[in-house]
Formats: sequence, structure tokens, C-alpha cells
Amino acid sequence: MPELPEVHTISSDLDKHLSGFKIIDVEITPKYNAVPDNKTFVKAVRGKKIKKVSRVAKNILIELDSDGYVVFHLAMTGRLLLRLNKQNEDKWVKILFTVKKGEKVRYLKFTDMRTFGKAELLDMEGVKKLINKYGPEPLNENITPEEFMKIIRSKRTNIKNALLDQQLMSGLGNIYANDTLFIARVHPETKTSDITPDLAQRLLSAAQEILQEGIKNRGSTLPDKMYMDIFGKPGKQQDNFRVYMRETCPNCSEKIEFIKLNGRGTYFCPTCQV
Ligand SMILES: [Zn+2]
Repeated sequence: MPELPEVHTISSDLDKHLSGFKIIDVEITPKYNAVPDNKTFVKAVRGKKIKKVSRVAKNILIELDSDGYVVFHLAMTGRLLLRLNKQNEDKWVKILFTVKKGEKVRYLKFTDMRTFGKAELLDMEGVKKLINKYGPEPLNENITPEEFMKIIRSKRTNIKNALLDQQLMSGLGNIYANDTLFIARVHPETKTSDITPDLAQRLLSAAQEILQEGIKNRGSTLPDKMYMDIFGKPGKQQDNFRVYMRETCPNCSEKIEFIKLNGRGTYFCPTCQV
């Protein structure tokens, strides 16, 4: 599932390559449902110019010159692909946007194999509501370790589960949460009530480090090859995973342990993470 670095890569590339383009056509695959409904969606989008593309947590927001927004959530298997040609081998295309700027014509495809993703029309009010659903991001420069500790301790659970709770903090998914805990040397089952200021500081800087590294490496593409950037290319962060999907610890060579915690695959080094 795309997490913050993957969604960030997609939204900043789209902003760079789509801003100023006009949407001249929208085609929705029969049986696919955009939100609120296909007719309204097409009518609101066709003929509009793209002002900019941004991100709220794991949502990608295309801002139109009508002050409306097209919001994509990629969920498990969604992709946004920007192509020079309408016809190519992209599978699972649900929505096809034809965009134009001067003589340049491009094709933006929203594809989704398992269709858990979403393409939704929102107004400013809807975007505000969306923003309010999520907690602050670890990369938000204003967040202090004290605030981070308060947020984490506000929920009685284990630290791994708290890091994944998007209402507490947004952006960390399973991959980056595993590696954050490793870098911070914190055991995933540590109770949130045991998070001290020192641990909070370590966790916050570990989360920032791994997310920035993930962005620099343009995200992680797992063996299922589901995540691809807008050009159909994989990320590189998977080559830098610390414990996620690893067999041995990069610090001490101990065997990495794998457990299920709150139903999510959890990897940790039993020696380094206590
Ligand atoms: Zn270790």
C-alpha cells in the first residue's frame, strides 16, 4: 500500500508535470463508480484547468480552476500514470483524463486492480473535512517531541499500533513504521504509556529520517510490484529496508523476528529493539 513517501512522490511529480494543463476529456470505465457519481464527476472536471496538485496524508488532491478538487486515494493497488500515448499496455484503467497545454497532450490514467481506491470530487469545505480527519505528520516541522509524546500517549495501545493510527499521526504505514521502530531501537510491543520524552524524541527523529529517505528514493516497490510512480517506474527504498521483509539485522546480524501485531506483519530485531 502506498504510504507517505510514495504518495508524496506521485503528488509532487503530478504537480510538476500537470499544473497548467486543461482537462479536455474524461472517460470513466463502465461499472466503475467515481464519487459522488460519474455524470457529476465528468461534468465538474471536463474543461477545467489544473491549478496545482498537492497531498493530504495519503490523498492526492488535484485543484481545478473552478476551486473544486479531484481527490484520489490509491488504497491497496491504485496508480496514477501519466502517459504520452492513449494506447499502451496499462491494465485496470478506471478513469482516463486527456489533458492539454499548448500543443502538448498527455493522458492521466487512474488504474486500480482491486478497486479499493477512490476518485472523488470535493469542494473546499470537503477538503477541510478531509484535513481534519488526520493527525499531524512527523515531517511537519512544527511538531515538537513533547507534542509527539502527548499524541502517542493519548491512546492506550502498543507503540507500533499507535504509529499506524492516522488520526494520531498521519503518513506512516506498515513499512515505514517497522523501520522507524528499528532506527529508534524501540520494541514494537512497547506500551504507549511507557513512551518517555527520550523515546518520543528518538521515535520522532527516526520517523522523519525514514520518511525523508523514502521520499529521496521515490518510495518503496515491494515484490508485488504494485507501487509505481507516474512514469510507471518502481521506487528504490526497498533496497534500504532496515527490518521490513529482512532476514537478519543490519546492526548485529541477529535473526529478525516476525510477529503479527494488531493483524499487521511486524518485523524487529530482538537484540537491538528492547
Ligand atoms: Zn540487531
